[in-house]
Amino acid sequence: MGADAVRIDAGALTVFLAEVFHAAGCSQAEGQRVAENLVGANLSGHDSHGVIRTPRYLGWLKSGNLVADRDVSVVSDTGALMILDGQFGFGQTVGPQAVARGIERAKELGVAVVALRHAGHLGRIGAFAETAAAENQVSVHFVNVAGSVLVAPFGGAERRMSTAPVAIGVPGAGGAPVILDFATSLVAEGKVLVASKGGKPLPEGSLIGPDGRLSADPAMLYGPSDPAVQPNSRNGAGALVAMGGHKGSGLALMCELLAGALTGSGATGPGYDKIYNGMLSIYMSRDRFGAEDDYARELRRYVDYVKSAKPVAGGGEVLVPGEPEARMRGVRRKDGIPLAPDAWDAIAGAGRDLGVTPPAPLS
Ligand code: NAD
Repeated sequence: MGADAVRIDAGALTVFLAEVFHAAGCSQAEGQRVAENLVGANLSGHDSHGVIRTPRYLGWLKSGNLVADRDVSVVSDTGALMILDGQFGFGQTVGPQAVARGIERAKELGVAVVALRHAGHLGRIGAFAETAAAENQVSVHFVNVAGSVLVAPFGGAERRMSTAPVAIGVPGAGGAPVILDFATSLVAEGKVLVASKGGKPLPEGSLIGPDGRLSADPAMLYGPSDPAVQPNSRNGAGALVAMGGHKGSGLALMCELLAGALTGSGATGPGYDKIYNGMLSIYMSRDRFGAEDDYARELRRYVDYVKSAKPVAGGGEVLVPGEPEARMRGVRRKDGIPLAPDAWDAIAGAGRDLGVTPPAPLS
């Protein structure tokens, strides 16, 4: 974040956004859930999936891409496998509902698979793995974004895949859980959004032009920047690059097939009139795998062993997945959430338009 970032207190931001989403048509409870989830992503350091999404969510609510106060409906329930339909409701409502059912079923049977189709944007998928880990559940989540074609497949210079995130979480057995959570594109689309609004610049080579040349320019995705217009990823001529060469590209393809084709949600492509998530989640009860003490000992031993590797840079440190987010939560709860001025102006303006007064920045 640039030096000119404004800082907003997390609590005040949550109260503000809950009112904004309520004023836009969500119940108070849903407004609160959306606000907590977006602010939670910023607190965890994932600004791409935080409050910067507010104007886009409000636009989607207006256009019918998202529907207020929808619950999941059960398409089929055959015990260890549940197929749920999010009915284009807010991901912050239908996502936690699907996760709660998966956790409950895995506690009963030892394992549960939940296919969630047609969910509004689910935000930071790692939040679901954290919820499951807190309930002593191992979980694996494959996600795709139908209607969002952003990523070039390995060897290609044209978009064919979504940013299709994967999250895996294991319970911490009395310590911190290990939570791996990332987009299969080299950077998440929201990070391009943040960069386009003056936030953290993108790593070189995270985008590719139609001529096959690598780039770091957000215009590849959004077209030329215009502060008066919401960035629209359909306007750019380029694509995001998949992470990890052919391996990341292959993982993204499997996310499209598991979360899109298998769940019945739809693998991405042209011709969708909505942008939404599909998610295939697997939950496994940790306690069915053996004694808690043995697992805790081996988890601790291995995490400590990994972290004891000599750091590449002097003063550096080896971290395990989930640690950066946990640390960032400590810092930002105390210091507030930094936002690029452009991004904050758009969020505050969206609130004022709905008659809700934004909080004053901390400094
Ligand atoms: P990222 O590149 O920041 O990677 C995050 C992962 O890497 C985390 O597990 C983190 O703990 C780990 N990590 C980061 N630094 C580390 C270090 N130094 N050592 C060890 N581990 C480290 O994440 P991203 O790809 O930008 O994704 C951001 C978010 O976007 C994710 O929460 C993802 O779920 C979300 N997302 C959501 C959608 C959607 O449609 N809902 C689509 C794409 C991405």
